[in-house]
Amino acid sequence: MTAQDYIRSYYAATANDQTRYPALEGTVKADVCVIGGGFSGVATALTMAERGRSVVLLEAKRIGWGASGRNGGQMIGGISGEATIKKQLGAAGAKLVRDIRYRGHEIIESRIAKYGIACDLQYGWMEVAARPRHMNHMRAYVEDRIKDGDGGGLEIVEADQMPRVLGTSSYYGGYIDRRSGHLHPLNLVRGEANAAAQLGVQIFENSPAIKVHGGAKPWVETERGRVEAGSIVIGGEIFNRFGQPALKGLMLPAGSYIIATEPLTGSDTASVDPQNFAVADSNVVLDYYRMTPDRRMLFGGRCNYTNRDPADIAGTMRPRMIEVFPQLKDARVEFSWGGTIAIVVNRVPAIGRLEPNLYYLQGYSGHGVNATHIAAEIVSDAICGTTEQFDLFDRIKHTRLPLSDIAGNYMLALGMLYYRIRDLL
Ligand SMILES: Cc1cc2nc3c(=O)[nH]c(=O)nc-3n(C[C@H](O)[C@H](O)[C@H](O)COP(=O)(O)OP(=O)(O)OC[C@H]3O[C@@H](n4cnc5c(N)ncnc54)[C@H](O)[C@@H]3O)c2cc1C
Repeated sequence: MTAQDYIRSYYAATANDQTRYPALEGTVKADVCVIGGGFSGVATALTMAERGRSVVLLEAKRIGWGASGRNGGQMIGGISGEATIKKQLGAAGAKLVRDIRYRGHEIIESRIAKYGIACDLQYGWMEVAARPRHMNHMRAYVEDRIKDGDGGGLEIVEADQMPRVLGTSSYYGGYIDRRSGHLHPLNLVRGEANAAAQLGVQIFENSPAIKVHGGAKPWVETERGRVEAGSIVIGGEIFNRFGQPALKGLMLPAGSYIIATEPLTGSDTASVDPQNFAVADSNVVLDYYRMTPDRRMLFGGRCNYTNRDPADIAGTMRPRMIEVFPQLKDARVEFSWGGTIAIVVNRVPAIGRLEPNLYYLQGYSGHGVNATHIAAEIVSDAICGTTEQFDLFDRIKHTRLPLSDIAGNYMLALGMLYYRIRDLL
């Protein structure tokens, strides 16, 4: 197999290091074998190594090659599907949602400090109202969080106060979450992988797992190697590549795309995002954006639910950026790229056990920087014998799409077209 390189992106161009890990040859043994070198897999491997377990990590291409090394970098509180969790699990669900809301942030913050990971973490995140009615939801959400004693760092911004926050007239207000923020995701995941390697995790790149087996004697096979481990974790947005019926039709891939401009220098661009917030709008088919430390606008969105990439990503994304920020009309686009989001039908991350000693975590519906780290800790706890939060996720009833192999993405595209039209009304 040829050694894989990263796709061309702002993140790959500004990666801190180029460490490569070997491909697996022969048989190795470990307490835990983790499949997938994105946030889910790397965070699980690092957590287990911190707890003294021997770990093998298998990555098909390179560490952070998937969504984890390509995303918008927005570190957002909470996980997707919170309403479903509360509805299905009642008081236990409400407690779970609250307990884990910022747990991923805490794990990331502690790893940045402990392992000296340079990944440009900045605080300040904002959801902006794309329609007047969305402000009612946001006011209710912030009020509920305050009533619940969990409103620290939240602030409603009414429409007339928006000019102090963002240089656009596209929105009807919004709310700020100062505990959330943004970072360089590829440098974070690579930094965590390097820390895991320092703790003894054996990392293999260019080593896709091709067969997995749980039960009493779990093993994983790659083209030229085999791992025998006490537990196996399918850690990442790997969908149902190993053919497990339990993961069939549970989630579908959707494309999401990002452009990064050249560094902005003109005085009229200083007003674009003066407080350096990461921003997401309130549409289901949403725009998300932020400034990089070298003052590029990194603008993402326009999910493609048919799972076919647009021929010209910059040509598709740039007009939307200029619609929101006309002052960027002369800014050149220097990078454009896309990645795959795993959309779970009921939006709740899929965390569970397929058979004894064979675990999975994936499906964050575009909301994974924080959630992957939470899920990795929950699965690590379960492997180590603490199953309270794991069991709650395992109890969630997921909806499965019939005929997902042949028609799933068309059904998703139709569903999303409905939401897109609703967003526009
Ligand atoms: C364009 C884009 C923008 C996004 N923006 C945000 C954002 O701003 N904020 C946010 O919170 N979330 C965002 N997300 C979602 C977030 O990036 C993901 O939820 C998260 O990175 C998922 O991490 P993961 O480790 O589960 O999966 P991935 O990062 O996809 O990792 C899976 C890894 O497994 C590897 N792999 C696949 N098959 C095999 C195999 N057989 N054997 C071994 N390895 C294998 C892949 O190569 C890959 O490296 C975005 C996603 C995209 C695509």
